[in-house]
Amino acid sequence: MYNRKKPLEEVPQVNTKIWACETEGCNSWMRDNFSFERVPSCVICNEPMVSEERMLPALANSTAEVRS
Ligand SMILES: [Zn+2]
Repeated sequence: MYNRKKPLEEVPQVNTKIWACETEGCNSWMRDNFSFERVPSCVICNEPMVSEERMLPALANSTAEVRS
């Protein structure tokens, strides 16, 4: 039996590895979904980014879902 009244579940937050820009006033960051071989540069100010962890909504593996 399937419950049709499925409540909207909140997306669980997971500790996610990201790259963040440390420049003051620049809030740029990106998920560390790709295996960077070295530290990426901020797309805004071109400074080297810093590896961090943040609580972010879990993503279903969207790259795997995007199939045309
Ligand atoms: Zn920046």
